Amino acid sequence: MATEILDHWVAGKTFKGASTRTAPVYNPAQGVVQKEVRLASTKDVDAAVAAAKAAAPGWADTSWAKRTAIMFAFREILNARKDELAAILTSEHGKVLSDAGGEIARGLEVVEFACNIAHLAKGEYAEQVSTGVDVYSLRQPLGVVGIISPFNFPAMVPMWFFPIAIAAGNTVVLKPSEKDPTAANWMAKAFTEAGLPDGVFNVVHGDKESVDAILDHPDIASVSFVGSTPIAKYVYERGTAAGKRVQALGGAKNHMLVLPDADLDLVADSAVNAGFGSAGERCMAISVLVAVEPVADELIGKIKDRMATLKVGDGTRGCDMGPLITKEHRDKVAGYLDLAVKDGADLVVDGRGISVDGAGDGFWLGPTLIDKVPTSSDVYTHEIFGPVLSIVRVESYDEGLELINASQYGNGTAIFTNDGGAARRFQREVTVGMIGINVPIPVPVGYFSFGGWKDSAFGDTKAYGPHAVHFFTREKAITSRWLDPSHGGLNLGFPQN
Ligand code: NAD
Repeated sequence: MATEILDHWVAGKTFKGASTRTAPVYNPAQGVVQKEVRLASTKDVDAAVAAAKAAAPGWADTSWAKRTAIMFAFREILNARKDELAAILTSEHGKVLSDAGGEIARGLEVVEFACNIAHLAKGEYAEQVSTGVDVYSLRQPLGVVGIISPFNFPAMVPMWFFPIAIAAGNTVVLKPSEKDPTAANWMAKAFTEAGLPDGVFNVVHGDKESVDAILDHPDIASVSFVGSTPIAKYVYERGTAAGKRVQALGGAKNHMLVLPDADLDLVADSAVNAGFGSAGERCMAISVLVAVEPVADELIGKIKDRMATLKVGDGTRGCDMGPLITKEHRDKVAGYLDLAVKDGADLVVDGRGISVDGAGDGFWLGPTLIDKVPTSSDVYTHEIFGPVLSIVRVESYDEGLELINASQYGNGTAIFTNDGGAARRFQREVTVGMIGINVPIPVPVGYFSFGGWKDSAFGDTKAYGPHAVHFFTREKAITSRWLDPSHGGLNLGFPQN
Protein backbone atom coordinates (compact mmCIF):
# COMPACT_ATOMS: atom_id res chain seq x y z
CA MET A 1 0.00 0.00 0.00
CA ALA A 2 1.32 3.45 -0.91
CA THR A 3 2.30 5.54 2.09
CA GLU A 4 -0.08 8.41 2.84
CA ILE A 5 1.48 11.86 2.41
CA LEU A 6 0.18 14.78 4.46
CA ASP A 7 -0.11 17.92 2.33
CA HIS A 8 -0.02 21.56 3.34
CA TRP A 9 -3.28 23.50 3.82
CA VAL A 10 -3.36 26.72 1.81
CA ALA A 11 -6.27 28.95 0.78
CA GLY A 12 -8.85 26.60 2.28
CA LYS A 13 -7.67 23.39 0.66
CA THR A 14 -4.85 20.88 0.57
CA PHE A 15 -1.75 22.02 -1.28
CA LYS A 16 1.10 19.82 -2.45
CA GLY A 17 3.62 22.52 -3.34
CA ALA A 18 6.64 21.94 -5.52
CA SER A 19 9.05 20.43 -3.01
CA THR A 20 9.53 16.67 -3.24
CA ARG A 21 11.10 16.38 0.20
CA THR A 22 9.15 14.53 2.90
CA ALA A 23 9.74 13.35 6.50
CA PRO A 24 8.38 10.28 8.30
CA VAL A 25 5.62 10.61 10.89
CA TYR A 26 5.79 7.79 13.43
CA ASN A 27 3.34 6.09 15.69
CA PRO A 28 5.75 6.21 18.65
CA ALA A 29 3.85 3.57 20.62
CA GLN A 30 4.38 1.10 17.78
CA GLY A 31 7.71 2.36 16.49
CA VAL A 32 6.43 2.39 12.90
CA VAL A 33 6.13 5.08 10.22
CA GLN A 34 2.43 5.78 9.71
CA LYS A 35 2.64 8.49 7.08
CA GLU A 36 5.00 10.98 5.44
CA VAL A 37 4.66 14.74 5.68
CA ARG A 38 5.71 17.21 3.00
CA LEU A 39 8.63 19.51 3.78
CA ALA A 40 7.98 22.86 2.14
CA SER A 41 10.49 24.71 0.02
CA THR A 42 10.88 28.48 0.23
CA LYS A 43 8.62 28.74 -2.83
CA ASP A 44 5.93 26.67 -1.13
CA VAL A 45 6.06 29.02 1.87
CA ASP A 46 5.80 31.95 -0.56
CA ALA A 47 2.57 30.43 -1.93
CA ALA A 48 1.09 30.15 1.57
CA VAL A 49 2.11 33.72 2.43
CA ALA A 50 0.62 34.95 -0.85
CA ALA A 51 -2.70 33.28 0.04
CA ALA A 52 -2.61 34.81 3.52
CA LYS A 53 -1.73 38.23 2.10
CA ALA A 54 -4.57 38.09 -0.42
CA ALA A 55 -7.05 37.23 2.36
CA ALA A 56 -5.76 39.84 4.81
CA PRO A 57 -7.59 43.04 3.69
CA GLY A 58 -10.99 41.34 3.48
CA TRP A 59 -10.58 39.63 6.85
CA ALA A 60 -9.36 42.82 8.57
CA ASP A 61 -12.43 44.57 7.17
CA THR A 62 -14.84 41.89 8.38
CA SER A 63 -17.00 43.18 11.22
CA TRP A 64 -16.32 42.23 14.83
CA ALA A 65 -19.76 40.62 14.88
CA LYS A 66 -19.02 38.34 11.94
CA ARG A 67 -15.54 37.41 13.16
CA THR A 68 -16.90 36.61 16.61
CA ALA A 69 -19.63 34.41 15.15
CA ILE A 70 -17.00 32.39 13.27
CA MET A 71 -14.90 32.06 16.45
CA PHE A 72 -17.91 30.69 18.30
CA ALA A 73 -18.64 28.25 15.46
CA PHE A 74 -15.03 27.01 15.56
CA ARG A 75 -15.30 26.59 19.33
CA GLU A 76 -18.42 24.45 18.89
CA ILE A 77 -16.81 22.20 16.25
CA LEU A 78 -13.67 21.76 18.34
CA ASN A 79 -15.64 20.93 21.44
CA ALA A 80 -17.99 18.52 19.67
CA ARG A 81 -15.20 16.65 17.88
CA LYS A 82 -12.39 16.84 20.43
CA ASP A 83 -12.16 13.03 20.67
CA GLU A 84 -11.24 12.90 17.00
CA LEU A 85 -8.44 15.40 17.55
CA ALA A 86 -7.30 13.63 20.74
CA ALA A 87 -6.95 10.36 18.80
CA ILE A 88 -4.68 12.13 16.29
CA LEU A 89 -2.53 13.52 19.12
CA THR A 90 -2.17 10.11 20.76
CA SER A 91 -1.33 8.35 17.54
CA GLU A 92 1.40 10.81 16.46
CA HIS A 93 2.74 12.15 19.76
CA GLY A 94 2.16 9.10 21.96
CA LYS A 95 0.65 10.94 24.95
CA VAL A 96 -2.19 9.03 26.58
CA LEU A 97 -5.71 9.86 25.45
CA SER A 98 -6.74 11.55 28.71
CA ASP A 99 -3.70 13.81 28.48
CA ALA A 100 -4.51 14.58 24.84
CA GLY A 101 -7.98 15.60 26.02
CA GLY A 102 -6.40 17.89 28.63
CA GLU A 103 -4.25 19.50 25.94
CA ILE A 104 -7.32 20.26 23.84
CA ALA A 105 -9.16 21.65 26.87
CA ARG A 106 -6.34 24.15 27.44
CA GLY A 107 -6.48 25.13 23.76
CA LEU A 108 -10.25 25.55 23.97
CA GLU A 109 -9.73 28.03 26.80
CA VAL A 110 -7.82 30.27 24.42
CA VAL A 111 -10.47 29.91 21.72
CA GLU A 112 -13.10 30.94 24.28
CA PHE A 113 -10.97 33.90 25.34
CA ALA A 114 -10.65 34.91 21.67
CA CYS A 115 -14.47 34.85 21.33
CA ASN A 116 -14.31 38.03 23.47
CA ILE A 117 -12.10 39.82 20.98
CA ALA A 118 -14.48 42.74 20.47
CA HIS A 119 -14.18 43.62 24.14
CA LEU A 120 -10.47 42.78 24.41
CA ALA A 121 -9.26 44.80 21.42
CA LYS A 122 -11.50 47.81 21.68
CA GLY A 123 -9.84 51.12 22.26
CA GLU A 124 -10.20 53.95 24.75
CA TYR A 125 -11.79 57.38 24.49
CA ALA A 126 -11.05 60.58 26.36
CA GLU A 127 -13.37 63.50 25.78
CA GLN A 128 -12.37 67.18 25.97
CA VAL A 129 -8.63 66.61 26.60
CA SER A 130 -8.22 70.19 25.46
CA THR A 131 -11.01 72.58 24.60
CA GLY A 132 -13.00 70.93 21.80
CA VAL A 133 -10.45 68.14 21.42
CA ASP A 134 -11.01 64.40 21.98
CA VAL A 135 -8.45 61.57 21.92
CA TYR A 136 -9.20 57.94 21.25
CA SER A 137 -7.25 54.79 20.47
CA LEU A 138 -7.98 51.75 18.38
CA ARG A 139 -6.18 48.50 17.67
CA GLN A 140 -5.72 47.11 14.18
CA PRO A 141 -4.36 43.77 12.96
CA LEU A 142 -0.74 43.37 11.83
CA GLY A 143 -1.51 41.57 8.55
CA VAL A 144 0.06 38.14 7.94
CA VAL A 145 1.48 36.50 11.07
CA GLY A 146 3.72 33.42 11.30
CA ILE A 147 3.49 30.72 13.98
CA ILE A 148 6.10 27.96 14.45
CA SER A 149 5.28 25.27 16.99
CA PRO A 150 7.00 22.30 18.72
CA PHE A 151 6.13 18.60 18.79
CA ASN A 152 5.07 18.32 22.41
CA PHE A 153 1.71 20.11 22.16
CA PRO A 154 0.64 19.78 18.51
CA ALA A 155 -2.82 21.24 19.20
CA MET A 156 -2.47 23.41 22.30
CA VAL A 157 0.61 25.44 21.37
CA PRO A 158 -0.75 26.49 17.95
CA MET A 159 -3.96 27.38 19.83
CA TRP A 160 -1.96 29.63 22.15
CA PHE A 161 -1.64 31.91 19.14
CA PHE A 162 -3.90 31.42 16.11
CA PRO A 163 -7.33 31.96 17.76
CA ILE A 164 -6.37 35.41 19.05
CA ALA A 165 -4.38 36.31 15.93
CA ILE A 166 -7.33 35.43 13.69
CA ALA A 167 -10.01 36.93 15.93
CA ALA A 168 -8.00 40.17 15.94
CA GLY A 169 -8.20 40.29 12.13
CA ASN A 170 -4.85 38.82 11.06
CA THR A 171 -4.23 36.01 8.61
CA VAL A 172 -1.96 33.13 9.64
CA VAL A 173 0.76 30.89 8.29
CA LEU A 174 1.34 28.08 10.80
CA LYS A 175 4.38 25.79 10.57
CA PRO A 176 3.79 22.96 13.06
CA SER A 177 6.33 20.37 14.11
CA GLU A 178 7.03 17.91 11.34
CA LYS A 179 7.01 15.12 13.95
CA ASP A 180 3.24 15.28 14.62
CA PRO A 181 1.79 17.52 11.92
CA THR A 182 -1.74 16.19 11.32
CA ALA A 183 -3.46 18.10 14.16
CA ALA A 184 -2.64 21.41 12.45
CA ASN A 185 -4.46 20.40 9.25
CA TRP A 186 -7.39 19.11 11.31
CA MET A 187 -7.75 22.44 13.10
CA ALA A 188 -7.40 24.50 9.90
CA LYS A 189 -10.04 22.36 8.18
CA ALA A 190 -12.39 22.66 11.17
CA PHE A 191 -11.98 26.44 11.09
CA THR A 192 -12.88 26.44 7.38
CA GLU A 193 -16.00 24.43 8.25
CA ALA A 194 -16.81 27.06 10.85
CA GLY A 195 -16.99 29.65 8.07
CA LEU A 196 -13.48 31.10 8.07
CA PRO A 197 -12.73 32.56 4.63
CA ASP A 198 -10.11 30.74 2.55
CA GLY A 199 -6.58 32.00 3.06
CA VAL A 200 -7.07 33.29 6.62
CA PHE A 201 -5.52 30.18 8.20
CA ASN A 202 -2.80 28.37 6.25
CA VAL A 203 -0.57 25.49 7.32
CA VAL A 204 2.81 24.73 5.79
CA HIS A 205 4.75 21.71 6.91
CA GLY A 206 8.49 21.69 6.96
CA ASP A 207 11.83 21.97 8.66
CA LYS A 208 14.54 24.62 8.84
CA GLU A 209 14.01 25.70 5.22
CA SER A 210 10.39 26.69 5.85
CA VAL A 211 11.24 28.31 9.21
CA ASP A 212 13.90 30.46 7.55
CA ALA A 213 11.48 31.33 4.73
CA ILE A 214 8.96 32.56 7.32
CA LEU A 215 11.61 34.52 9.24
CA ASP A 216 12.87 36.28 6.13
CA HIS A 217 9.57 36.84 4.31
CA PRO A 218 8.89 40.56 3.85
CA ASP A 219 5.11 40.05 3.95
CA ILE A 220 5.10 38.39 7.37
CA ALA A 221 4.69 40.95 10.14
CA SER A 222 5.31 38.84 13.22
CA VAL A 223 6.54 35.44 14.34
CA SER A 224 5.39 33.48 17.38
CA PHE A 225 7.75 30.59 18.05
CA VAL A 226 7.81 27.83 20.66
CA GLY A 227 10.58 25.23 20.84
CA SER A 228 14.00 24.55 22.28
CA THR A 229 16.16 27.42 23.54
CA PRO A 230 18.87 27.42 20.85
CA ILE A 231 16.26 27.55 18.06
CA ALA A 232 14.17 30.13 19.95
CA LYS A 233 17.21 32.39 20.24
CA TYR A 234 18.00 31.91 16.56
CA VAL A 235 14.41 32.66 15.55
CA TYR A 236 14.32 35.76 17.74
CA GLU A 237 17.57 37.15 16.36
CA ARG A 238 16.85 36.39 12.70
CA GLY A 239 13.22 37.47 12.87
CA THR A 240 13.88 40.78 14.62
CA ALA A 241 16.81 41.48 12.26
CA ALA A 242 14.27 41.18 9.45
CA GLY A 243 12.16 43.86 11.17
CA LYS A 244 9.47 41.59 12.60
CA ARG A 245 7.74 41.53 15.93
CA VAL A 246 8.95 38.23 17.47
CA GLN A 247 8.05 36.27 20.56
CA ALA A 248 10.12 33.10 20.96
CA LEU A 249 9.47 30.76 23.87
CA GLY A 250 12.27 28.32 24.64
CA GLY A 251 13.21 25.36 26.81
CA ALA A 252 13.04 24.81 30.53
CA LYS A 253 14.40 23.05 33.58
CA ASN A 254 11.73 23.42 36.22
CA HIS A 255 12.57 23.03 39.90
CA MET A 256 10.21 22.12 42.71
CA LEU A 257 11.42 23.35 46.09
CA VAL A 258 10.19 21.24 49.01
CA LEU A 259 10.44 22.73 52.48
CA PRO A 260 10.53 20.41 55.51
CA ASP A 261 7.04 21.48 56.67
CA ALA A 262 5.36 20.46 53.39
CA ASP A 263 2.72 17.74 53.16
CA LEU A 264 4.96 14.97 51.77
CA ASP A 265 2.09 12.91 50.34
CA LEU A 266 0.93 15.91 48.33
CA VAL A 267 4.55 16.51 47.28
CA ALA A 268 5.01 12.88 46.19
CA ASP A 269 1.77 12.87 44.17
CA SER A 270 2.67 16.19 42.58
CA ALA A 271 6.25 15.20 41.76
CA VAL A 272 5.10 12.00 40.04
CA ASN A 273 2.30 13.75 38.12
CA ALA A 274 4.46 16.66 37.03
CA GLY A 275 7.62 14.63 36.44
CA PHE A 276 6.18 11.79 34.37
CA GLY A 277 2.94 13.11 32.84
CA SER A 278 3.24 13.15 29.05
CA ALA A 279 6.51 11.21 29.55
CA GLY A 280 8.14 14.39 30.84
CA GLU A 281 7.79 16.00 27.40
CA ARG A 282 6.25 19.19 28.76
CA CYS A 283 7.97 22.55 28.99
CA MET A 284 6.36 22.88 32.44
CA ALA A 285 7.31 19.38 33.63
CA ILE A 286 9.11 19.22 36.95
CA SER A 287 12.56 17.84 36.25
CA VAL A 288 14.38 18.70 39.49
CA LEU A 289 13.04 18.25 43.00
CA VAL A 290 15.06 20.32 45.46
CA ALA A 291 14.55 18.76 48.88
CA VAL A 292 15.40 20.85 51.93
CA GLU A 293 16.72 18.30 54.42
CA PRO A 294 15.81 16.26 56.36
CA VAL A 295 12.91 15.27 54.05
CA ALA A 296 14.70 13.62 51.10
CA ASP A 297 14.84 9.98 52.26
CA GLU A 298 11.21 9.86 53.35
CA LEU A 299 10.07 11.64 50.19
CA ILE A 300 12.03 9.35 47.88
CA GLY A 301 10.33 6.35 49.54
CA LYS A 302 6.91 7.85 48.85
CA ILE A 303 7.79 8.75 45.25
CA LYS A 304 9.16 5.26 44.58
CA ASP A 305 5.96 3.67 45.89
CA ARG A 306 3.88 5.75 43.51
CA MET A 307 6.20 5.17 40.54
CA ALA A 308 5.80 1.42 41.02
CA THR A 309 2.08 1.76 40.28
CA LEU A 310 2.48 3.63 36.97
CA LYS A 311 1.42 1.78 33.84
CA VAL A 312 3.50 2.61 30.78
CA GLY A 313 2.16 1.79 27.35
CA ASP A 314 0.12 2.63 24.30
CA GLY A 315 -1.92 5.76 25.06
CA THR A 316 -5.07 4.19 23.65
CA ARG A 317 -5.06 1.44 26.32
CA GLY A 318 -5.73 3.43 29.47
CA CYS A 319 -2.08 3.63 30.54
CA ASP A 320 -0.59 6.46 32.64
CA MET A 321 2.34 7.28 30.42
CA GLY A 322 3.16 6.78 26.75
CA PRO A 323 6.37 6.55 24.71
CA LEU A 324 8.83 9.27 23.74
CA ILE A 325 8.45 11.02 20.41
CA THR A 326 11.24 9.33 18.38
CA LYS A 327 13.83 6.60 18.83
CA GLU A 328 16.63 9.20 18.64
CA HIS A 329 15.05 11.23 21.42
CA ARG A 330 14.44 8.12 23.53
CA ASP A 331 18.10 7.09 23.14
CA LYS A 332 19.30 10.59 23.96
CA VAL A 333 17.24 10.70 27.15
CA ALA A 334 18.39 7.19 28.14
CA GLY A 335 21.98 8.34 27.61
CA TYR A 336 21.61 10.72 30.54
CA LEU A 337 21.11 7.76 32.88
CA ASP A 338 24.60 6.42 32.18
CA LEU A 339 25.96 9.93 32.57
CA ALA A 340 24.23 10.32 35.94
CA VAL A 341 25.94 7.22 37.27
CA LYS A 342 29.27 8.33 35.84
CA ASP A 343 28.88 11.71 37.53
CA GLY A 344 28.27 10.08 40.91
CA ALA A 345 24.46 10.25 41.24
CA ASP A 346 22.31 7.37 42.58
CA LEU A 347 20.03 5.82 39.95
CA VAL A 348 17.14 4.97 42.28
CA VAL A 349 14.65 3.83 39.62
CA ASP A 350 15.97 2.96 36.15
CA GLY A 351 13.30 3.31 33.45
CA ARG A 352 15.19 1.22 30.90
CA GLY A 353 13.83 -2.26 30.47
CA ILE A 354 10.36 -1.59 31.85
CA SER A 355 7.56 -3.90 30.83
CA VAL A 356 5.18 -2.15 28.51
CA ASP A 357 1.53 -2.55 27.60
CA GLY A 358 2.00 -2.22 23.86
CA ALA A 359 4.30 -2.96 20.96
CA GLY A 360 7.90 -3.87 21.77
CA ASP A 361 9.25 -1.54 19.09
CA GLY A 362 7.72 1.59 20.64
CA PHE A 363 10.05 4.35 21.83
CA TRP A 364 9.78 3.40 25.48
CA LEU A 365 11.52 4.68 28.53
CA GLY A 366 9.92 4.18 31.92
CA PRO A 367 9.78 6.68 34.78
CA THR A 368 13.27 7.25 36.16
CA LEU A 369 14.39 8.69 39.49
CA ILE A 370 17.92 9.91 40.16
CA ASP A 371 19.03 11.01 43.62
CA LYS A 372 22.00 13.13 44.69
CA VAL A 373 22.46 14.64 41.22
CA PRO A 374 25.55 16.89 41.28
CA THR A 375 24.63 20.37 40.09
CA SER A 376 27.80 20.35 37.98
CA SER A 377 26.47 17.40 35.94
CA ASP A 378 24.83 17.81 32.52
CA VAL A 379 22.00 15.74 33.98
CA TYR A 380 21.24 18.72 36.19
CA THR A 381 21.97 21.58 33.78
CA HIS A 382 20.57 20.23 30.48
CA GLU A 383 16.91 20.09 29.55
CA ILE A 384 16.43 16.31 29.22
CA PHE A 385 12.76 16.40 28.13
CA GLY A 386 11.86 12.88 29.20
CA PRO A 387 10.51 10.94 32.20
CA VAL A 388 13.55 11.61 34.37
CA LEU A 389 13.17 13.23 37.78
CA SER A 390 16.34 14.39 39.52
CA ILE A 391 16.63 14.96 43.27
CA VAL A 392 19.01 17.56 44.65
CA ARG A 393 19.39 17.78 48.43
CA VAL A 394 19.99 21.15 50.09
CA GLU A 395 20.24 22.33 53.69
CA SER A 396 18.11 25.49 53.57
CA TYR A 397 15.52 27.55 51.68
CA ASP A 398 18.27 30.01 50.73
CA GLU A 399 20.45 27.30 49.23
CA GLY A 400 17.47 26.01 47.21
CA LEU A 401 16.51 29.47 46.00
CA GLU A 402 20.08 30.24 44.96
CA LEU A 403 20.14 27.07 42.87
CA ILE A 404 16.89 27.90 41.08
CA ASN A 405 17.94 31.48 40.43
CA ALA A 406 21.29 30.35 39.03
CA SER A 407 19.58 28.25 36.36
CA GLN A 408 19.87 29.30 32.75
CA TYR A 409 16.11 28.76 32.45
CA GLY A 410 13.18 30.50 34.12
CA ASN A 411 10.02 28.95 32.77
CA GLY A 412 8.18 27.41 35.73
CA THR A 413 8.91 26.55 39.34
CA ALA A 414 6.99 25.46 42.42
CA ILE A 415 7.34 25.65 46.16
CA PHE A 416 5.71 23.14 48.49
CA THR A 417 5.25 24.35 52.04
CA ASN A 418 2.60 25.09 54.65
CA ASP A 419 4.33 28.33 55.58
CA GLY A 420 2.60 31.28 53.89
CA GLY A 421 5.48 33.61 54.70
CA ALA A 422 8.00 31.30 53.00
CA ALA A 423 5.75 31.00 49.95
CA ARG A 424 5.37 34.76 49.74
CA ARG A 425 9.13 35.24 50.00
CA PHE A 426 9.62 32.69 47.23
CA GLN A 427 7.20 34.40 44.84
CA ARG A 428 9.06 37.67 45.36
CA GLU A 429 12.60 36.33 45.20
CA VAL A 430 12.60 33.66 42.52
CA THR A 431 13.64 34.69 38.99
CA VAL A 432 11.13 32.55 37.12
CA GLY A 433 8.11 33.56 35.04
CA MET A 434 5.46 31.13 36.30
CA ILE A 435 5.29 30.02 39.93
CA GLY A 436 3.24 27.36 41.68
CA ILE A 437 2.51 27.41 45.40
CA ASN A 438 1.65 23.82 46.28
CA VAL A 439 0.79 23.49 42.56
CA PRO A 440 3.38 21.62 40.50
CA ILE A 441 2.55 22.76 36.94
CA PRO A 442 1.49 26.40 37.22
CA VAL A 443 0.29 26.95 33.64
CA PRO A 444 -1.76 30.16 33.83
CA VAL A 445 -5.39 29.90 32.70
CA GLY A 446 -6.35 31.38 29.34
CA TYR A 447 -7.20 34.86 30.62
CA PHE A 448 -3.68 35.34 32.01
CA SER A 449 -0.62 35.03 29.77
CA PHE A 450 2.03 32.30 29.56
CA GLY A 451 5.77 32.84 29.42
CA GLY A 452 9.06 32.35 31.19
CA TRP A 453 12.09 34.43 32.06
CA LYS A 454 15.76 34.18 31.11
CA ASP A 455 16.56 31.64 28.35
CA SER A 456 12.99 30.30 28.46
CA ALA A 457 11.63 33.22 26.43
CA PHE A 458 13.00 35.84 24.05
CA GLY A 459 11.01 39.02 23.47
CA ASP A 460 8.89 40.76 26.06
CA THR A 461 5.45 39.46 25.13
CA LYS A 462 3.99 36.27 26.52
CA ALA A 463 1.68 33.79 24.82
CA TYR A 464 -2.16 34.00 24.89
CA GLY A 465 -4.26 36.11 27.26
CA PRO A 466 -3.97 39.92 27.26
CA HIS A 467 -0.36 39.84 26.01
CA ALA A 468 -1.52 38.12 22.81
CA VAL A 469 -4.15 40.76 22.10
CA HIS A 470 -1.38 43.33 22.35
CA PHE A 471 1.09 41.27 20.28
CA PHE A 472 -1.31 40.65 17.40
CA THR A 473 -2.52 44.24 17.05
CA ARG A 474 -1.05 47.71 16.54
CA GLU A 475 -2.45 50.69 18.33
CA LYS A 476 -3.37 54.01 16.81
CA ALA A 477 -4.09 57.09 18.91
CA ILE A 478 -6.29 59.70 17.28
CA THR A 479 -6.59 63.32 18.37
CA SER A 480 -9.64 64.94 16.84
CA ARG A 481 -11.30 68.33 16.76
CA TRP A 482 -14.46 69.18 14.92
CA LEU A 483 -14.64 72.81 14.16
CA ASP A 484 -17.20 74.85 15.98
CA PRO A 485 -17.67 78.63 16.26
CA SER A 486 -15.25 78.83 19.23
CA HIS A 487 -12.13 77.66 17.38
CA GLY A 488 -9.27 79.74 18.55
CA GLY A 489 -7.05 80.93 15.68
CA LEU A 490 -3.26 80.60 15.49
CA ASN A 491 -1.35 79.01 18.39
CA LEU A 492 2.17 77.61 17.79
CA GLY A 493 2.47 75.85 21.17
CA PHE A 494 0.90 72.61 22.38
CA PRO A 495 -2.69 73.15 23.46
CA GLN A 496 -2.88 73.58 27.23
CA ASN A 497 -6.45 74.32 28.00
P1 NAD B 1 12.54 22.27 18.39
O1 NAD B 1 13.25 23.51 18.79
O2 NAD B 1 13.35 21.11 17.89
O3 NAD B 1 11.47 22.57 17.22
C1 NAD B 1 10.55 23.63 17.33
C2 NAD B 1 10.20 24.11 15.92
O4 NAD B 1 11.38 24.59 15.30
C3 NAD B 1 9.63 23.01 15.03
O5 NAD B 1 8.59 23.53 14.26
C4 NAD B 1 10.83 22.61 14.18
O6 NAD B 1 10.47 22.14 12.90
C5 NAD B 1 11.61 23.90 14.08
N1 NAD B 1 13.07 23.68 13.96
C6 NAD B 1 13.76 22.59 14.39
N2 NAD B 1 15.08 22.74 14.10
C7 NAD B 1 15.20 23.94 13.50
C8 NAD B 1 16.31 24.67 12.98
N3 NAD B 1 17.55 24.18 13.03
N4 NAD B 1 16.09 25.88 12.44
C9 NAD B 1 14.84 26.39 12.39
N5 NAD B 1 13.75 25.74 12.86
C10 NAD B 1 13.92 24.54 13.41
O7 NAD B 1 11.62 21.83 19.62
P2 NAD B 1 10.79 20.48 19.81
O8 NAD B 1 11.75 19.37 20.06
O9 NAD B 1 9.79 20.35 18.72
O10 NAD B 1 9.97 20.83 21.14
C11 NAD B 1 10.50 20.65 22.43
C12 NAD B 1 11.11 21.93 22.95
O11 NAD B 1 10.13 22.96 22.99
C13 NAD B 1 11.60 21.79 24.39
O12 NAD B 1 12.82 22.48 24.51
C14 NAD B 1 10.51 22.46 25.20
O13 NAD B 1 10.91 22.97 26.46
C15 NAD B 1 10.12 23.57 24.28
N6 NAD B 1 8.79 24.07 24.59
C16 NAD B 1 8.72 25.27 25.23
C17 NAD B 1 7.48 25.78 25.58
C18 NAD B 1 7.38 27.10 26.27
O14 NAD B 1 6.28 27.59 26.40
N7 NAD B 1 8.45 27.72 26.73
C19 NAD B 1 6.32 25.06 25.29
C20 NAD B 1 6.43 23.84 24.64
C21 NAD B 1 7.69 23.36 24.29
